[in-house]
Amino acid sequence: MNRRRRIYEGKAKILYEGPEPGTLIAHFKDDATAFDGKKHEIIDGKGVLNNRISDYIFTNLNKIGIPTHFIKRLNMREQLIREVEVIPLEVVVRNVAAGSISKRLGIEEGTQLPRSIIEFYYKNDALGDPMVSEEHVTAFGWSNPQEMDDIMALAIRVNDFLSGLFLSVGIRLVDFKIECGRLWENDTMRIVIADEISPDSCRLWDIETDEKLDKDVFRHDLGNMLNAYQEVARRLGILNETQERSTSGPTLVK
Ligand code: UDP
Repeated sequence: MNRRRRIYEGKAKILYEGPEPGTLIAHFKDDATAFDGKKHEIIDGKGVLNNRISDYIFTNLNKIGIPTHFIKRLNMREQLIREVEVIPLEVVVRNVAAGSISKRLGIEEGTQLPRSIIEFYYKNDALGDPMVSEEHVTAFGWSNPQEMDDIMALAIRVNDFLSGLFLSVGIRLVDFKIECGRLWENDTMRIVIADEISPDSCRLWDIETDEKLDKDVFRHDLGNMLNAYQEVARRLGILNETQERSTSGPTLVK
């Protein structure tokens, strides 16, 4: 029986009131959505994998001094997080051209970019999350120049960490999205990484074969999404704890 107060329900997660003031519980659902929610399926076990992968990444970000909202994973589907004031931006970092930048600028998918590029999208479902510049962000007061400096510095640090982490397990980090929030501690505020980092929010390609190990498998019907996410977890060495029910049938144990 779940009597906790529900604070918010999004496409992939539900947020509940946490055990102490200033905390929340994030519950990872199995819903997979794409194209502004036009494509929607339940992928049995996806929430468990994303909870575990995001736990692994955020725990390591915290360890190397990159501040996040993450406190600890509570169980297969839930994690304890700090309540933050979410800045309404999707911050995308790209290393290799794919997805919308390839379409918008006519750059062939897979082209290494001359340097990592940061983009901002205004989080607004009704508008389809339009791309915006720093000018829009500061003019409309979604964030200020000081915060934007912090956000960009954090985004670059996360990119460096994730690129190395995934490279070490034979995966190329093509791009990813983060969200940031304001964490208030007494009278001081700092910007922290919020939301999740998982194959839902990254493009991850096998370094040798370019096989896609991320949400593009779902977006473009490229195969079994759960298998792709399991492969990421397996390579990171965190699969055993995440094996729940799987629709992919039994796995041969050698
Ligand atoms: N992304 C995301 N949520 C969004 C939009 C994008 O997590 O609402 C991620 C996406 O998975 C990819 C990166 O941000 O890793 C860049 O996405 P892009 O702008 O290419 O958009 P897409 O082609 O995925 O719509």
